[in-house]
Amino acid sequence: MDTCCDQDSGNVNEKTVLLYACSGGANVGEVADRATRTLMAEGLGTMWCLAGVGAGVEPILAKAREADVNLVLDGCDVDCARKVFEQAGVPNVVQIKATDLGVEKVKGVRATDEQVARLAEKARQVLAERK
Ligand code: SF4
Repeated sequence: MDTCCDQDSGNVNEKTVLLYACSGGANVGEVADRATRTLMAEGLGTMWCLAGVGAGVEPILAKAREADVNLVLDGCDVDCARKVFEQAGVPNVVQIKATDLGVEKVKGVRATDEQVARLAEKARQVLAERK
């Protein structure tokens, strides 16, 4: 089955790193989404489909189960993306939340470049600790 994730997984010192964002409707969801795409553009991992994990799409789930790190960027304390992984029983999950970094959740406003950079920097630190 072809999926939008049919590309090689990213690696940090041989580790397979998959990246996910909650991509929620509030600004913090946009922060998570843009930060995840930033990390992928930097070669720190491959953005993988959270919706596919939640839907139980087997090829997507299989890659997630095999990954050394599933880095999950959530926007807020509702923890939607992390809960998707709990329900799917996928291991090796590391979560970072935008609101834990002082980004206020506000509906109807756009994420700022600074907020995206803040979350991306935290993610870089977390990945560096797992090399
Ligand atoms: S974690 Fe928060 S921002 Fe992300 S989808 Fe859930 S409620 Fe929305």
